[in-house]
Amino acid sequence: MSVAVYPGSFDPVTLGHYDIIKRSAKMFDHVIIGVLNNTSKTPLFSLEERVNMLKDTVSDLDNVSVESFNGLLVDFVRQKNTNIIIRGLRALTDFDLEMQMAQSNRMVAPDVDTVFLSTSLEYSYLSSSVVKEYARYDVDLNEFVPKCVVSKLLDKMK
Ligand code: ADP
Repeated sequence: MSVAVYPGSFDPVTLGHYDIIKRSAKMFDHVIIGVLNNTSKTPLFSLEERVNMLKDTVSDLDNVSVESFNGLLVDFVRQKNTNIIIRGLRALTDFDLEMQMAQSNRMVAPDVDTVFLSTSLEYSYLSSSVVKEYARYDVDLNEFVPKCVVSKLLDKMK
């Protein structure tokens, strides 16, 4: 069975993430979304909130599950008995950082490979940060985040 891990902060999950999730769910038997409990960043949403929003978002996809993890990504990937990481690429600005991450992961875990999926054009500008900025103003968030995230974002901004 082919299993892949799609890691990230997902603060919050956007339609850009969801697009990558749906496409990878067609490529692998099982996709595990790994929500990073990153102590160096202060997220808007707690780990539990981020995990729950993702669970709601992927509830219609049978072969996708959501878990959180601490520490090294490659350790989490190995715990899940796989060696495939999925990451999304939007623009050149992502490329530098993503390449650096993929290569440093391969330094410590040469058997682990990163598969990059390029963003769909309509989401190429979309990031969790942009969405959080829009949420402060009167912008319709339905175009950017799954339905279950819209009200949670608006509540947070109150
Ligand atoms: P991280 O803090 O690990 O970058 P993010 O939640 O911001 O976590 O992103 C997780 C992954 O999803 C990254 O590989 C990122 O490049 C990708 N991603 C984010 N937004 C989009 C998008 N709009 N289209 C495609 N990939 C995206």
